[in-house]
Amino acid sequence: MLSTDSLETSRNLLQAVLNHIEDPTIILDRNYQVILTNKKHVEMGAKITSNPLSKICYEVTHNRKRPCSGKNIPCPLDKVLKTKAPVTLKHTHFDSLYNRVFVEITASPILDQQGEVLYIIETYKNITGQNKIQSALQRSEMRYRSLFEQSGDAIFVLQAEGPQTGKILSANRAASLMHGYRKEEFLRLSIADLDTPEHAAKALKRIKRILEGEKLRMEISHKRKDGSVFPVEVSASMMEFGEKKFILALYRDISKRKAIEAERDTLIQKLKHISRTDGLTGLLNRQHIDIRLNEEMERARRYGDPLSLIMFDIDKFKLINDTYGHIAGDQILQRTSMIIKDTLRASDIAGRFGGDEFIIILVHTDIEVGMQVAERLRSRVAEENVQINDSQSTGYSISVGISQFDNSLSLAEDFIARADAALYEAKRKNRNIVVQSPPHQEPAC
Ligand code: GH3
Ligand code: MG
Repeated sequence: MLSTDSLETSRNLLQAVLNHIEDPTIILDRNYQVILTNKKHVEMGAKITSNPLSKICYEVTHNRKRPCSGKNIPCPLDKVLKTKAPVTLKHTHFDSLYNRVFVEITASPILDQQGEVLYIIETYKNITGQNKIQSALQRSEMRYRSLFEQSGDAIFVLQAEGPQTGKILSANRAASLMHGYRKEEFLRLSIADLDTPEHAAKALKRIKRILEGEKLRMEISHKRKDGSVFPVEVSASMMEFGEKKFILALYRDISKRKAIEAERDTLIQKLKHISRTDGLTGLLNRQHIDIRLNEEMERARRYGDPLSLIMFDIDKFKLINDTYGHIAGDQILQRTSMIIKDTLRASDIAGRFGGDEFIIILVHTDIEVGMQVAERLRSRVAEENVQINDSQSTGYSISVGISQFDNSLSLAEDFIARADAALYEAKRKNRNIVVQSPPHQEPAC
């Protein structure tokens, strides 16, 4: 028999050995009572285990009154008692601040001579950090999955290297909705199969550029399963998993945006047209005629091209208005603009200067040819017979002034003033004629 002293000595010896073990360790009897703990164990669970001896293990490590059980917290001691062999399993404990701690427990039996479990020695490693990383990874994987699946953009993961470069490895729900393929159908396709021919030819080159670090963002066209084509905005970049590289490509259907843009462009064009046009005749208005005349004068100055300007005014238009009414007057203004369009070349520029005055810019035209055009115009108008109503019709005439550009003219208004002076002369000469403004004379020194 051992003396009390020698028992105490062997207990101290055992305690010293336990304290040398790096991980928290406890020794329990068959009834789960704590017989001994080491320093590490006390450090880890100081509050709960302030006096752990003789307590039941679940009071010490869990601060609970019932044994651990079930799938989530299986009891390692139960297992050791059943199997009489060491077990290692994951478990949860609580530390001194009652924080949940994830541990990996190794429980080993100390058997008596009959092979029955006498004591159990339990060592545990704190794996909370490891567990946190793992659950963070799981959470980010779940986040990625739900982003991938719930995104309104079509998302593809593509093979980035090897002979199958461009092959679709994964596609989300939006990709199916957008392109009309089922997910498993995508897996038999390459991204180039969704491209229109022009873009399909460039697909591999683009993937190569992405692998070189370029982030691709552009507008292209994609094909649906039924062959219909729609505009998409693609943004693609490289993704690395370990050693392997992939392409992550996002496609946004921009059909609606494009339709809105087209509508907006048409509207802008219409507004531009309205802002340049005279409402009654459809010819250019005065502001725009000024702009165009300045441009043409600049061109004539730079390239020495001839340029002529016609200004004409309807004769006795007040009388027409007074005799037949304002609406009839409008009709005559409209008829005049039609005659202008019929008589001139497409390159000539015609506008209503205001009231019953019109202007025509004859580009690349010298005064001789300009005179012929002006005369043709005057005689065409003089031949007109405008039906006012069922019983009335009237003819009318115009007086025309014409002038040729020369470098002494710097502003559109100066050029117009010259043509206007010739028109004034035509009116003075009893109307219905063409008058040419005299050539510019350099002032004598
Ligand atoms: P002249 O031979 O000297 O040019 O005589 P005129 O009667 O034509 O005189 P003037 O050119 O000065 O008169 C222009 C008239 O044009 C005055 C105005 O009542 C009329 N008028 C101006 N704008 C319009 C328009 O938009 N519609 C109509 N119906 N008449 C207009
Ligand atoms: Mg007039």
